[in-house]
Amino acid sequence: MKDAHGRTIDYLRISLTDRCNFRCIYCMPEEGVQQMAHGDILRIEEILRVVRVAANMGISKIRLTGGEPLVRKGVVDLIRDISATPGIDKVSLTTNGVLLPRMAADLKDAGLSRVNISLDTLDPDQFKRITRVGTIEQTLAGIDAALEYGFNPVKVNAVTVRSLNQDYLAFARLSVDRPLHVRFIEYMPVGESTGANGCGWGKQDVVPSDELIETINARAAAAGLPALQPATESRPEGWGPARYYQFPGALGTVGVISPLSRHFCSECNRLRMTADGKIRPCLFSDEEYDVRAVLRDAHADDETVRAVLLQALGAKPDEHHDKVGTDRGMSQIGG
Ligand code: SAM
Ligand code: SF4
Repeated sequence: MKDAHGRTIDYLRISLTDRCNFRCIYCMPEEGVQQMAHGDILRIEEILRVVRVAANMGISKIRLTGGEPLVRKGVVDLIRDISATPGIDKVSLTTNGVLLPRMAADLKDAGLSRVNISLDTLDPDQFKRITRVGTIEQTLAGIDAALEYGFNPVKVNAVTVRSLNQDYLAFARLSVDRPLHVRFIEYMPVGESTGANGCGWGKQDVVPSDELIETINARAAAAGLPALQPATESRPEGWGPARYYQFPGALGTVGVISPLSRHFCSECNRLRMTADGKIRPCLFSDEEYDVRAVLRDAHADDETVRAVLLQALGAKPDEHHDKVGTDRGMSQIGG
């Protein structure tokens, strides 16, 4: 499936819920965001119908996200059914890891092969400040569980925010002894930057990825450790725009994702669906196409569902044009 700019679109990110067991400072305000009404959130069978139609159109990769996707009731069975959908090759999950120790075995059995776990710091106090309600032990236990149950790849995603002054070197070194793929993601102006939702993005808080790699290497040199090298052969399989590096002899890699300092819009391969059934052509755009209305119209057939997906496909912008702020926050869109 190609969009109007010639890009192949084969990846759908589905937000299962806007609920979350954390309250990360860059994602939602302390009191949480105004929650979607239960009746507004797509039912599991509605999600599956969209997946089936999308798979027929050429979508082969599905990522489940949120909010926290693992708090969604029925997620294991949903993964089982998505994995069994003809045309779908890979199902993946982005999670804060808290529920992985409890659920990893069932998720694996259901057909989930890969997980991305979000962790922004190795400092327990800072972790508490960032997530407001979580403890680092929870997420670290989630990473252990993901490795123990053989998910591959296991990626650890860290949002870099300059004013948080994170320990990038210690973080990158997580990739040395275990097959972990640490990825640093530039802080993005989604939602909150508008002021409408809370916590305030500022350009000064973006750490450009090139600077980040230089900082890691300078700190490594100061500590007598080797520098990161571009990873050529050992890149983890992925569907996104990360650039990968590796410490000599490391079991994992270090990736950088630079939506701001190096636009990768020309390689964009995805559509998004929010938990309340809106198809978003671009993370940074507020344009949305309502598939829920069609799913709930007893007279609408799969062709009509397909038409909504095609409308969203046709509306994919060529790039995000440095847009700052979106009406909905990351937890509502599905980061
Ligand atoms: N709750 C799950 C988690 O935290 O992995 C999935 C949803 S969360 C919205 C998905 C990802 O978006 C997380 O890795 C989070 O760190 C990232 N994220 C949230 N707000 C962001 C922002 N303003 N800029 C960059 N990444 C952000
Ligand atoms: Fe929840 Fe993920 Fe947002 Fe943190 S980043 S508040 S874990 S949805």
